[in-house]
Amino acid sequence: MRQVHPDYNESSGLVVDGSIRIAADDNPVLIGTECSECEYVVFPSRPFCRNCLSDNVSDVELARTGQLETYTVAHTGQEGIEPPYAFGFVNLENVQIYSRFTEWKERSLEVGDQVELVLEKIKTDTETGEPLFGHMFRPMEEEQ
Ligand SMILES: [Zn+2]
Repeated sequence: MRQVHPDYNESSGLVVDGSIRIAADDNPVLIGTECSECEYVVFPSRPFCRNCLSDNVSDVELARTGQLETYTVAHTGQEGIEPPYAFGFVNLENVQIYSRFTEWKERSLEVGDQVELVLEKIKTDTETGEPLFGHMFRPMEEEQ
């Protein structure tokens, strides 16, 4: 199934976070930075390693699924974001990243759950009213 929001138009380029790409299989993938010296991975990408300060780094595609480390629900909005919304941290293969979550109300979200990457509408541009897209994670379906 395509994990890209139906309103997203690739030509619009309305992705808030530049560290996300649509891969050849039509699914989103997050791009981090991996250090060639110490193998430390960061997201979003950086021009140098946060661990050893080497600038010998390169882009790396991150895993699309991970495990929920922790999350909380905000009941007051930021500009352009309708509350309530859920945000927290996800453990991917080799890096922990900050993310918002979708479908957390419909399917209960619990620490330790498997979650998957989706491209979602994350806020509304307060000047143009256009939707802005970025990464979120959602709970994965239980395996049958
Ligand atoms: Zn390093």
